[in-house]
Amino acid sequence: MAKKKSTPTSAFATLAIHAGQDHDAATGAVIPPIFQSSTFVQDGIGGLRGGYEYGRSANPTRTALETQLAALEGGQHGLAFSSGLAAEDALLRAVVRPGDHIVIGNDVYGGTYRLINRIFGDWGVEHTVVDLADLRAVDKAITPRTKMLWIETPSNPLMKISDIAELTEIAHAAGLLAVVDNTFASPALQRPLTLGADVVVHSMTKYIGGHSDVIGGGLVLDDDELEEKVRFLQFAAGAIAAPMEAWLTTRGLKTLDVRMQRHSENAGRLAEFLDGHSGIETVYYPGLASHPGHTIAATQMSRFGGMLSIAVAGGERVARRFAEKTRVFQLAESLGGVESLVNYPSAMTHASVAGTELAVPPNVVRLSVGLEDADELIADVDRALAKAVKQR
Ligand SMILES: *Cc1c(COP(=O)(O)O)cnc(C)c1O
Repeated sequence: MAKKKSTPTSAFATLAIHAGQDHDAATGAVIPPIFQSSTFVQDGIGGLRGGYEYGRSANPTRTALETQLAALEGGQHGLAFSSGLAAEDALLRAVVRPGDHIVIGNDVYGGTYRLINRIFGDWGVEHTVVDLADLRAVDKAITPRTKMLWIETPSNPLMKISDIAELTEIAHAAGLLAVVDNTFASPALQRPLTLGADVVVHSMTKYIGGHSDVIGGGLVLDDDELEEKVRFLQFAAGAIAAPMEAWLTTRGLKTLDVRMQRHSENAGRLAEFLDGHSGIETVYYPGLASHPGHTIAATQMSRFGGMLSIAVAGGERVARRFAEKTRVFQLAESLGGVESLVNYPSAMTHASVAGTELAVPPNVVRLSVGLEDADELIADVDRALAKAVKQR
């Protein structure tokens, strides 16, 4: 399949804007067009121009995004899917077979757990949930049928930090594929392939898209054989990123670097404000020195990101009230957009893991800190906390 020639450069900020984004050869349009076409003319049977045949196998707008994404993660191959879970599904089906086993972290995204537990479980794929901070427990969970170690760091919603380099070493010693869901950090802050991981997974719906206007997923990996398997599965089963979605994602990805700087600054300021606040029991933010994963985060991430969670002192009722009382932070699922969002995980994003070992405590509220004015964000949270406590 044709790969567009990319500007030779290695710096992240330049790659974000130029990798895969060559101007249109026919018209000179600086922004590559949205190739909103399902099929491509052939110059005689099999005479493809640039390798494009039918939109499910490849589309130039999708190729542009895949090239850009792979460059930013420092990987050989990028694949763009219709959602983060579609990307996970394709990867899992390419790697595991009935009877195989997966080791997953105990704070992974609820939908990832649901996919592995309820969908792959029905097909005879087993799994063990472990605390990825406990390296001995990870080692013990691996069986002769284990094929994959699934890492998510920082994790959703408790912001746990896992040591990618150490875990990858354990995985490789046992012959497993080390997969990292890099959705929360994004490649602007953390590049798992450079730490030894085999595959990076993204919900591009979140920071990569960055504007809450597209659902998308991505995979980045180096191994040619695995790429062939996953790409065949994507082609044969069809969970592709559509041209418009790919184009919007590419547009978002160009500004990822500056967005992540501001997200991290704003979240850092809010975390410091909340740390020690009388209405808060715990602030889960890896940028705080008190966070148990702070040291590891400081070595494997360049900044600490825009996500933080809080355990509210007054329990479930105060937590629920708080989530409904903010004004700048809007109550909604999802994260990673320019606008701040508040989420009550145990009844919203993580309702699917209620009653399981991944259940989220009922006094936890998750904040996706956007790019608004930091002082106004702090004032919003402070005011909502005061109101939530008063109405107890
Ligand atoms: C949202 C999310 C996913 C799933 O992605 P979709 O685009 O919603 O399918 C996977 N992992 C993490 C960490 C997420 O936040």
